[in-house]
Amino acid sequence: MRYKCIECGTPLGFEGLCWACRAKHHREEVNNWTTQDIEEKKKLVIAKLKVSQEDEFYSTDEREIFDDLMTRGIYCKEIAKVACEREIYYPSELYYKAGEETINKLIEKLMATESKDEGSTLLRCLAMAGGKKAQDTLYELKINPKPWRKNLYVDSDIYAEEGGWTFDSKNQYIKLNYDKCFSLEPCKEKNENGTFIARKRGEKCSHCGCELMDILVINGKDERFAFLGLDGIITASCCPNCITLSEGISNRFTLDGESMILEYEGIEENYCEDEIINRMVENRFIVSEKKRPLFYGAFNEDVNTIGGFASWVQDWEYRNCPECGKKMKYLAQIHWDTIQDCAEGTLFIEICPECKIITMFHQQT
Ligand SMILES: [Zn+2]
Ligand SMILES: [Zn+2]
Ligand SMILES: [Zn+2]
Repeated sequence: MRYKCIECGTPLGFEGLCWACRAKHHREEVNNWTTQDIEEKKKLVIAKLKVSQEDEFYSTDEREIFDDLMTRGIYCKEIAKVACEREIYYPSELYYKAGEETINKLIEKLMATESKDEGSTLLRCLAMAGGKKAQDTLYELKINPKPWRKNLYVDSDIYAEEGGWTFDSKNQYIKLNYDKCFSLEPCKEKNENGTFIARKRGEKCSHCGCELMDILVINGKDERFAFLGLDGIITASCCPNCITLSEGISNRFTLDGESMILEYEGIEENYCEDEIINRMVENRFIVSEKKRPLFYGAFNEDVNTIGGFASWVQDWEYRNCPECGKKMKYLAQIHWDTIQDCAEGTLFIEICPECKIITMFHQQT
């Protein structure tokens, strides 16, 4: 390639900054928005919603401003209200923590609709809005489905998952993500004390021969991770080669930092040469000092996060624990190209804290 990123040196087909450096600058700018900036940005989003039709808003600059507001933890009831008046339902995050009046309107529309498309869209918005009323409505639709339900792939309790929660057969609320979020930020040198990404396990995959890795180690004794309720080391391990081409890999961990990889379906060909593995291990990510807003990692692929909401590449996906069968909680995401040049997709890591089981899987476009 003819050019190099003028900041980090990554080879480029054009002159200027690579996407990662551009994303970094943008994030710094958003993180520095003042209270006044934020008020102005909200006004821009609301003004655009007021003149947009249905799906139009989704592809506007103001939609990006809205995402940025969410990454700052700004949840604006007025935005949800205006969106609802205009019947704008994408992205569903517009309705995160919406006010009561807006939730009532969404419920009214959902119960009245005869269309599966509108039904599915409204289910997603109510999932994001959350709260008891939204839950009761989704539960009601699960127990007494509308005729359009048979044209949807999944039931309303799966729609609820988009909002980071679900309910069981007795309408008991189940939380599926954590109410705290930390990002992983590059620092000067790799530090394998505490919480870090990628370490060689010193053993090879029995399917493909690739080096096995502890792909994420979290120090639960660190007070930043007290919210996990696990007073010890959590180690998530996999074959970095098989994981990208399989259904997922689970492991059982003990709080002393050990983990045992459970049987998984692997592939024969190893595409992860030693050089790639070494590059992955050399990453210099450490946990952010301060906690981040819950949607900090939810809209872009530039930052790895623990807790909060994921940036699903495809649909949201909460696996069942291979031990107890219950839904697992979303724990972390690692975007492969943050630790491996030009790699595609994201690794999602989920946990059953009771059984001390980790399941991880890969999504890409
Ligand atoms: Zn760059
Ligand atoms: Zn393998
Ligand atoms: Zn379990």
